[in-house]
Amino acid sequence: PISMDDPIEEHRICVCVRKRPLNKQERLKKECDVITVPSKNVLLVHEPKLKVDLTKYLENQAFKFDYSFDETASNEMVYRFTARPLVQTIFEGGKATCFAYGQTGSGKTHTMGGDFSGRAQNASKGIYAFASRDVFLLQNQSRYRNLSLEVYVTFFEIYNGKVFDLLNKKAKLRVLEDGKQQVQVVGLQEHQVSCAEDVIRMIEMGSACRTSGQTFANSSSSRSHACFQILLRRRGKLHGKFSLVDLAGNERGADTSSADRQTRMEGAEINKSLLALKECIRALGQNKSHTPFRESKLTQVLRDSFIGSNSRTCMIAMISPGMSSCEYTLNTLRYADRVK
Ligand code: ADP
Ligand code: MG
Repeated sequence: PISMDDPIEEHRICVCVRKRPLNKQERLKKECDVITVPSKNVLLVHEPKLKVDLTKYLENQAFKFDYSFDETASNEMVYRFTARPLVQTIFEGGKATCFAYGQTGSGKTHTMGGDFSGRAQNASKGIYAFASRDVFLLQNQSRYRNLSLEVYVTFFEIYNGKVFDLLNKKAKLRVLEDGKQQVQVVGLQEHQVSCAEDVIRMIEMGSACRTSGQTFANSSSSRSHACFQILLRRRGKLHGKFSLVDLAGNERGADTSSADRQTRMEGAEINKSLLALKECIRALGQNKSHTPFRESKLTQVLRDSFIGSNSRTCMIAMISPGMSSCEYTLNTLRYADRVK
């Protein structure tokens, strides 16, 4: 296990990019890989040449992030530099969020929820599970043990501006804001967990609920945001909260000109929520007093994570390496660039 005593980085927002490997179909079609990661925080988008002259790339093809992961990085490695430093935040009584952003098929669910091989999910190999593992680790460390914290998880989906409980048969839930600007998802089930196995069962249950009844090709999961939360409670009172969000495919935001009305509406909603998210994260980074969280259900539900002095966030922008994804890849990189 990795030591949890590494120094925590000071800044509140961390933006990283992860490139997945070319998949089997792309290799069969002889797709060119147009992404190169020359160093740990630079990423290049380039012409489909076999060898890139790294000394001659144009400035505007190079993107700089806190970390860039190439196709050889494991989920554990990505976790280590993104969500892991935030685990301590929730023990200190703060709010942490980690977002997976990117085009459908770029690796968001693989990174957050664990890989699927065929229909079976390896839920123990994703960021949800790694973060939970480290929560149990810290819970038992001497400096936090006497807090007697209890660990709970929730798992819900936001689809077309509506919230559904993935741990309770996709029950539709209402979101209420009280006079004190506290936002509540009414009836969202919190499941107490006491070990990694408990959590993995919850991830599997929620993931199955998320994709049930759909073929993979036409999965509504590309059009919904999934949010897995780890809550720390102390004598019933909320102590800290980690929200891990597998966002809707960002290409879906472009569906606003579709012939189908439903698709158009979903596209507009996704567009709106991703724009609001960007603004909320930027407001957090600049310590602005106004956070436009009301613009979308996603940001409204995460409201308490965007305010307060002890809130930290991290975004992992996922990209596909192929030439045919280039346009969406550039969109993703520009979005991530605006957030940092
Ligand atoms: P998204 O959730 O962004 O739509 P997925 O996570 O479902 O994308 O990934 C699409 C496919 O690519 C899946 O079969 C997944 O296992 C595979 N994949 C994604 N990222 C990686 C990676 N880093 N290494 C190996 N396979 C990956
Ligand atoms: Mg997915």
